[in-house]
Amino acid sequence: MPVPLLDVNAQNHPLQDEFTAAFQRVLGHGMFIMGREVDELEAEIKAFLGAKYVLGVSSGTDALLLALMALDIGPGDEVICPTFTFFATGGCVSRVGATPVFVDVQESDFNIDLDAIKRKITPRTKAIMPVHLFGQSADMDGIMAIAAEHGLTVIEDAAQSFGARYKGQQSGTIGHFGAYSFFPSKNLGALGDAGLLVTNDDELGQRAKILRVHGMEPKYYHREVGGNFRIDALQSAFLRIKLRHYDSYTSRRQANAAWYRSKFGDSLKGKIVLPTEEEDRFHIWNQFTLRVLNGRRDEFRAHLAKAGIGCDIYYPLTLDQQECFQKLPQSSLDGISTAHRLASEVISIPIYPELREEQREEVAAAILSFV
Ligand SMILES: *Cc1c(COP(=O)(O)O)cnc(C)c1O
Repeated sequence: MPVPLLDVNAQNHPLQDEFTAAFQRVLGHGMFIMGREVDELEAEIKAFLGAKYVLGVSSGTDALLLALMALDIGPGDEVICPTFTFFATGGCVSRVGATPVFVDVQESDFNIDLDAIKRKITPRTKAIMPVHLFGQSADMDGIMAIAAEHGLTVIEDAAQSFGARYKGQQSGTIGHFGAYSFFPSKNLGALGDAGLLVTNDDELGQRAKILRVHGMEPKYYHREVGGNFRIDALQSAFLRIKLRHYDSYTSRRQANAAWYRSKFGDSLKGKIVLPTEEEDRFHIWNQFTLRVLNGRRDEFRAHLAKAGIGCDIYYPLTLDQQECFQKLPQSSLDGISTAHRLASEVISIPIYPELREEQREEVAAAILSFV
């Protein structure tokens, strides 16, 4: 039996009756834009994350964009981003007219390298945008210390880390802004596009709230230019249902990760490296990403495909290697080596909460028959 990398239906179909009731409720009251569903979702997430301002937005990408706009980051400014991440991290920086400056990541947790950040700070640097890749928080103490020393703001790209923790604190609530995605393949997945922006700063929270609705306050009065970055009421209603199950989704992902670890033990040594959970982190395993050594990643990928095991490569190219960024200044693109190697070694295997025991066994058997 083939095992998919991710099976969103395995999570969503058991909730069908609840989704249908939520749809009927929204259809009944007719408040499709903002209103009570959004208010309720924001209040529930506020309790979950413990952040002061919680804004439902149209996507994770728009959450990042809104954060950059609220911080007045634009032409002439530089924003430091890890180069090993999904495109949106760097793409949003370019979209506000600022310059993304890509820095290397560390092999241990795939997250931004602190020394690499320090080497790329210039008088034009305005912000650092760490990404908590694959569901594990970056070293936030280190990043906040560098930011404080240089007077920089920190926008956490927490798209893959809703509920992940760093020294007990929720990822996304430590920097000036945290941006989350509810894209269907993220750990808290909507039935379409949706996202969230959080902050504990009064001024930034109020500004972002107004920029979310075209900079409008009060109605039809615009002091500045914002955008339409609103979350749908319907998606909010669906997300409220899934939020109630969220802790169990997370613990099942963690159980799957622990199972792989004990199943493989030392048997992959020298050939495949398992992902690690750093001390003081609460990893939510958006991806379980292996490193295949000795130049055999693509061979391994073909082997899994033949065995019917779903897998994918996050990410085959780093941001500094993307065609659209080749016109950036050399200082945005240089000094990167670990991330380039990782892009040729990584491959993610099934970790989703509904993965069954016999499916895990199949994944493990396919991997063990390779080494
Ligand atoms: C998914 C993702 C985004 C973008 O989120 P969308 O909701 O798809 O717009 C941004 N950054 C990272 C790291 C992501 O994984």
